Amino acid sequence: MIITLAPNASAEHVHEISNFLGKNGWKTTPVRTQSAHYLVGIGSKEIDLRQISHLSGVLDVHRVTDVYKLVSRAWKVKPTRIDLGDGVVLGEGSMTIMAGPCSIEDEKQVTETVDFLVSQGVQVMRGGAFKPRSSPYSFRGLGLEGLKMFASIAREKNVKVITEVLDVSAIESMLEYVDVFQVGARNSQNFTLLDELGRVDKPVLLKRGLSGTLEELLQSAEYIFSKGNEKVILCERGIRTYERAYRNTLDLNAVPYLKEKSHLPVVVDPSHGIGLRKHVPAMALAGAVAGADGLLIEIHRCPEEALSDGAQTLSFEEATELFEKLKRLAAAHLC
Ligand code: PEP
Ligand code: MN
Repeated sequence: MIITLAPNASAEHVHEISNFLGKNGWKTTPVRTQSAHYLVGIGSKEIDLRQISHLSGVLDVHRVTDVYKLVSRAWKVKPTRIDLGDGVVLGEGSMTIMAGPCSIEDEKQVTETVDFLVSQGVQVMRGGAFKPRSSPYSFRGLGLEGLKMFASIAREKNVKVITEVLDVSAIESMLEYVDVFQVGARNSQNFTLLDELGRVDKPVLLKRGLSGTLEELLQSAEYIFSKGNEKVILCERGIRTYERAYRNTLDLNAVPYLKEKSHLPVVVDPSHGIGLRKHVPAMALAGAVAGADGLLIEIHRCPEEALSDGAQTLSFEEATELFEKLKRLAAAHLC
């Protein structure tokens, strides 16, 4: 159950509400986010919600039977919209494109990409400065200096920065240069990282794990929300199945399902989802039609020269063609 507390609820009220639930066999956890103060109730004993709603300090109360609670649509029917500033809003009714290279490589690459995105009306640039790589000998990113360079060039043109955080210890130093933290597939269940991202007031794009179920993804999102950060974006990026013809299997079933079960925005990453450059546009369009609120797409001026993930990266020409098709879908009210 989720109890939303009234803005003027006192510590005494919270104590009384928790006591009342405790006596009825329910354990409560207080959660204070950027927007509100909640009590999350866990229990299975019969309890009359009307009795709770009459207690002082209670704004409203909802029963949530899902294993995840705060991220469930069962208590918050209205979809969450996340405002990145400068008119960039992610959530129901939007189709936010976030594009850029897999890795930040140098100033020239960032400048070219920012200029390209601005020319296309795309306001969010993705780019990894800290890269999780399967091999320790692969390019692992330019680190904090690369992120600072990325942010300074992007922000000059009002372009928002989304980048991956690999480790709790890096959050603090990255904070100033990041508009959206990305949690990668490999960290989807790194609970200490999720806890810490719950303590910052920046949106977090949370990717589904390589073999993660949707329930696990939603529970990971719950970690962030329950530590105080409501600004969570879910991302389907493909899962590992028996099919080896492509890098991953992009599970587009996840889009309508997640949007039914959760109020959080849902984004699709077709680049990692299929891993094959020539098929990325088709899967991006399919993701948009499936109802995604945004797309995360890898692009590079010259994908053949990209230091990571070139095989799934679109050239600027291919990206231009895709963006054009997305505009046509939007104009036809198909996404
Ligand atoms: C990436 O976005 O470049 C990335 C490493 O993604 P994932 O965590 O989905 O593999
Ligand atoms: Mn990548």
